[in-house]
Formats: sequence, structure tokens, C-alpha cells
Amino acid sequence: MKNVAVIGAGTMGNGIAHTFAQFGYNVSLIDVQFASLEKGLATIEKNLDRQVAKEKITEAQKTETLANISTYTDMEAGVKGVDLVVEAATENVDLKLQIFKNLCEVTPTSVILATNTSSISITKIAAVTDRPDKVIGMHFMNPVPVMKLVEIIRGYSTSDDVTNSIMDLSKKLSKNPVEVNDYPGFVANRILMPMINEAIYTLYEGVAGVDEIDQVMKLGMAHPMGPLQLADFIGLDVCLAILHVLHDGFGNPKYAPCPLLVNMVMAGKKGIKSGEGFYSWGHGTKDLVIADNFKK
Ligand code: NAD
Repeated sequence: MKNVAVIGAGTMGNGIAHTFAQFGYNVSLIDVQFASLEKGLATIEKNLDRQVAKEKITEAQKTETLANISTYTDMEAGVKGVDLVVEAATENVDLKLQIFKNLCEVTPTSVILATNTSSISITKIAAVTDRPDKVIGMHFMNPVPVMKLVEIIRGYSTSDDVTNSIMDLSKKLSKNPVEVNDYPGFVANRILMPMINEAIYTLYEGVAGVDEIDQVMKLGMAHPMGPLQLADFIGLDVCLAILHVLHDGFGNPKYAPCPLLVNMVMAGKKGIKSGEGFYSWGHGTKDLVIADNFKK
């Protein structure tokens, strides 16, 4: 595999494109919005600058990485000649099913179709394609160029050959792939999201404030960031969507999203990406500033 298309240039898509390009793959970065492509490329450049400043890569490697990325708003043009597609578009089941149906029309059946979905069933996505044996979950973690884990999710029909080649490919990107089966939330989010939801319930019920909850989990459990800060980082809309998948998939009320999380997403408070969540972002300093709604 040498040529890879990444669909979606948002938080994850630009990180996935960055990583493949850094390891010498030709990457077509595809997004429906031209502005997202521009923003995605600017983010990649900024993150490469950070790697250069930390002496993890050279200035020449930065230039090569950027040269390996081409951008497209037209999916058909972007996937021409690729061996693998990694879909990282918005977490919405209907949107993803449509993208995978379209991909079958514009790629030969030899092309592996991977999805970075956080929670949508790989088996469900595979079922709308003409190649369910070649559909697989490739769940990168945020920020992609930094985080070592890739959760590799086998759908009901994913073949051994495809699983093995995606495991090998992930190692070539200097990642540590871990193979799991396709049930709601897979492993990472089945464990992480109930913890984040419980942290939000703890805030909602007035047990403690934002700072106290995050401090307890950072200092007591040695987590590098607290669950509320992590929720802002992931995106509160993404957290809510994953909780809905767990709730619907298992039919168990323990996964019901906290009403505070629902309200915040309805109010457009999605965390870092919208400038405000449990914390206020975009004030230009590295300080953690609690959002006005949660100040005591
Ligand atoms: P995002 O909202 O930052 O970016 C999504 C991008 O997809 C946007 O730029 C949007 O314009 C684009 N898009 C929408 N429809 C499209 C289409 N039809 N064709 C091409 N592009 C399209 O979202 P994100 O946080 O990067 O999440 C992307 C995927 O990665 C989701 O499935 C999410 O569950 C998963 N994921 C997210 C995280 C995280 O921490 N944010 C972690 C792991 C996995």
C-alpha cells in the first residue's frame, strides 16, 4: 500500500493524513468543505512545526510530508488510484453509510475501506458495501501524530487477510495496533465514555465543581488530564453521539447521556472546537480557564 485517501479533514482526518504522509505515503485528503481542507492543512503545518521545534523531525522531513498531501473536494477525483481509504468524516451514521455506498461506486473492489468511527458498527457500515470482507475499523486516537494506539476493529465479515494487512500497516506508521471485535463502543469508548458521563453527572448533581472533579482524577488516578477536560478535547457532540450508540446498542439505562451534556451540545458548547465547553478556550494562554457557567 502506497496511496491512501483520507475522507474528512477535521480534528482526526488531518492528523491521520499527517501521519500517513510523514511515513512516506501519498495522501489524498478529501473534504466536502474547502474551508475544512484549508484549516486541516494549516493544522498539519503547525503540528509539523512543533515536531521540528522538538527535534523529532527535520525541516526537510516537514517539507516532504507536506508534499505528500494533495487535497480534494471531489471524492471521485481524490480516491483515484488509492489502495486504502480511511474515512474520518463527521460521526453520523447516515452520512457514513452514504459515503461507503459512494466509495463502492468510485473504487475497485480490491480497495480496503477503513473507518475511524468512534462507535458506529463496522458490520453495519460493511453491510451497505460490495466488499464487507474489506471493511474494517481503524480507530486512531487524538492527537493522531502523537498517540500510539490504533484500535483495529473487525466487523462480522472482515477477513483475516485484511485484518493482518491493516495491523501491519499500523506498525509501519509506528503505532501499536490492538485488535478488537465489533460491539458498541468497541473497547476504548465502552470504558471511556461511561467515565466521562459519570464525571458530568457528578458536576450536574453538584457533588463537586469542574476543577475538583478533574483534579481528583488527575492526582488520584494519575490520568494526564481530567475527564471534563478530555471531553472538551474530544468534542462534547462526539461524546454525546457515542453515548447514544452505547445506550441504543445495549439498551441499558446506565449509558443514558447526562442531561447537562445534552443541554451543552444543544447550546453549541462543544468544547475546544467551539471555543467553550467545561472550560473556556481560545483566550490565547495555556491556563485552564473554567467556563463562565461553571465558575463558582
Ligand atoms: P470533525 O467534526 O472535526 O471533522 C469532520 C470533517 O468531516 C469536517 O471537516 C466535515 O466537513 C467533513 N465531512 C462531513 N461530511 C463529509 C463528506 N461527505 N465527505 C467528506 N468530508 C465530510 O470530526 P472529528 O472529531 O475529526 O471526527 C471524525 C471521525 O473520527 C468521527 O467518526 C469520530 O467519531 C472519529 N473520532 C474522533 C475522535 C476525536 O477525539 N475527535 C477520536 C477518535 C475517532
